[in-house]
Amino acid sequence: MSFTAKLTVINQPIGLLGGTFDPVHTAHLRLAEEALRQLGLAEVLWIPAGQPHHRAAPLAAPEHRLAMVSLATAGHPRFRVDDAEILNATPGYTVPMLERLRRDLGDRRPLVLLMGADAFLMLTGWHRWRELFRLAHIGIASRPTFPLTPAAMPAELAEEFQRRHGPPAALTQTAAGVIVDFPLSAGTVSATEVRAKLRQGTAADTLLPAPVLDYIHRHHLYSN
Ligand code: ATP
Repeated sequence: MSFTAKLTVINQPIGLLGGTFDPVHTAHLRLAEEALRQLGLAEVLWIPAGQPHHRAAPLAAPEHRLAMVSLATAGHPRFRVDDAEILNATPGYTVPMLERLRRDLGDRRPLVLLMGADAFLMLTGWHRWRELFRLAHIGIASRPTFPLTPAAMPAELAEEFQRRHGPPAALTQTAAGVIVDFPLSAGTVSATEVRAKLRQGTAADTLLPAPVLDYIHRHHLYSN
């Protein structure tokens, strides 16, 4: 491999997909696949959350959510699971999580924190949210019913969005600080809807990967 080719590989951004994954569903997989393709990522690191601060406790226990993410991503050559947050008993925030990854991966590798548009619109509620831009880029997947327009954002977020917004090619130019968005047609599926369908016994494998649906049935998750 030539020196230039090596540099390109080292600069290829790594995507980070955090979430409660209660349970992991097909839109999460589509998001990760489209991010790989449209943003030119080297890989996507899936990071299931332990106990998130900004929302109600997940219904399924951490070991089940981790097992389901592992099943959903198994065999994909460019998906990896990071279990450090979910195995930690104390609730974790995103900025310390990124600082931990920076200690492992160094300061120069572009990291892209992936999220749906709904999550981005709530960003100003996150702990130390402005520090996210010093640690990672942000890659936003469009999500029906969550328009990604400055008018839909709080003023301070709209200002960051307008200042930092760039094309996917900008992700390789710096290690952090750029906001990109990409189209995702994963429908309106959410974990909330999936849990409701599981309770009614109507969840199908169009909503969940088959091994995950099988795991849920075997462990009697979300049934009441
Ligand atoms: P819930 O209904 O419990 O909030 P969720 O699937 O939205 O479930 P998470 O498991 O935390 O929640 O999602 C992880 C990430 O996936 C978030 O950034 C979320 O915005 C994104 N995401 C989930 N579903 C979609 C979708 N249909 N389209 C685009 N992004 C999505």
